[in-house]
Amino acid sequence: MADRLIRGATVVSLDDDVGTQEEADVLIDGGEIVEIGPGLDASADDVIDAEGKIAIPGFVDSHIHMAQTQVRGIAGDWSLMGEYFEHMLGNITGLYQPEDHYLGGLFGAFEKLYSGTTTALDWSYPNTLEHGERAVDALSDAGLRAVYTYGPPGDDAAKWWYESDVGLPEGNVRELYDGKIRDDDLLSLALGLRGPDFCVDETARSDLELARELGVLATIHMGAAQWTSSEYNDEYQGFGCLHDMLGPDFNVAHGNHFTQEDVQHAVDAGASFSSSPEVEMQMGHGIPVTDKVLSAGGRPTWGVDVCSNISGDMGSQMRIGLQVQRMFDNQRILEEGEEVTGVSITCRDTLEMATIEGARALGMEDEIGTLTPGKRADVVLLDKDDFLTAPCHDPIETVVFQSDPSHIDTVLVDGEPVKRDGKLLNPLVSEEFDRFVQSGRRLIEESGIYA
Ligand SMILES: [Zn+2]
Repeated sequence: MADRLIRGATVVSLDDDVGTQEEADVLIDGGEIVEIGPGLDASADDVIDAEGKIAIPGFVDSHIHMAQTQVRGIAGDWSLMGEYFEHMLGNITGLYQPEDHYLGGLFGAFEKLYSGTTTALDWSYPNTLEHGERAVDALSDAGLRAVYTYGPPGDDAAKWWYESDVGLPEGNVRELYDGKIRDDDLLSLALGLRGPDFCVDETARSDLELARELGVLATIHMGAAQWTSSEYNDEYQGFGCLHDMLGPDFNVAHGNHFTQEDVQHAVDAGASFSSSPEVEMQMGHGIPVTDKVLSAGGRPTWGVDVCSNISGDMGSQMRIGLQVQRMFDNQRILEEGEEVTGVSITCRDTLEMATIEGARALGMEDEIGTLTPGKRADVVLLDKDDFLTAPCHDPIETVVFQSDPSHIDTVLVDGEPVKRDGKLLNPLVSEEFDRFVQSGRRLIEESGIYA
């Protein structure tokens, strides 16, 4: 007998062979999708009645800083080069104790799971090894599939971000990887690089070489800030010293300022881009890179990025990213004196950017990102018969434009339910809630940003 059987869902698999199927079943065993089809002749220990539900692959957030969850709602009027650098990187991040990393990561992961994101790249600024360990504990305790990203420590902006010649703390990285990540089925490691706009060439290259030696993803904040303290930004230099080192294991967060030629070069090298359209439009990063990535024949992925600013719900990024791209495409046509008679990219495109393209960027496209027999069972069930979503005529449009996190009824990660009947199952949600709130209050008080 199999572990679990989802009965009677509208299955939006995003897999070309499986397609979209009405009243279909999904059979799950050992955390893996075994079979998808209508009226499967199968039995399971746990049968989930999915009548009135749409089944989709879990969302993949390719770029977020989850440790900021307990300081959510402070950056809604901030810019990147103004308040964000001053208050967040230059102040609050340095006040984090290991337990703050744990609590922010834990509730950030709960927000992800509640809103249907089953995999996230969590970019961390661990001040010490212990900070990193507790951040990883949070991901593990929450049951999220995650790429823990070891970025530069958050304790000294001058040391790590101003023409830094200090590489990532290699000993800590190795110890954390070997101790808590390497053997965990749901966790993987990435290195959070600084580019030549933030550190000297030798450091930028040696951090990337460390990622390559470990065989893990390298992800980099680049092309967002017009940094002026480094020689790099005296004139535009694209990827600078990293130009010939790009590959499928290289992910760029933002990339707004890159030229079309440099984006083409990155796409041709197999590198991926994470776009966070909502934060980028607010904070002054520039026009989202999605336009250039699509023009280069690539496909962008979506990331929430700064959850001290905006909600961690991927649905918002999926919608905003789609509509911004359509705005540009439409405007080009209008400026040529023509009428817009069709949209450039579709609801399915943006849903894929929120799922399989995110998986591809994280090197997980063979494991997750579509509902496909043989892949891991990261599955989300949404209500399509709710009074805000009914009647459902096109399940992809219902998912993209008509639903919100409250419509997410059930979430499975690796075949295990983490949310059911609209509620998270993890007891830590209530057990740790007070500590989580206290952590946020302490950080804001000590920072003095409202004083
Ligand atoms: Zn970021």
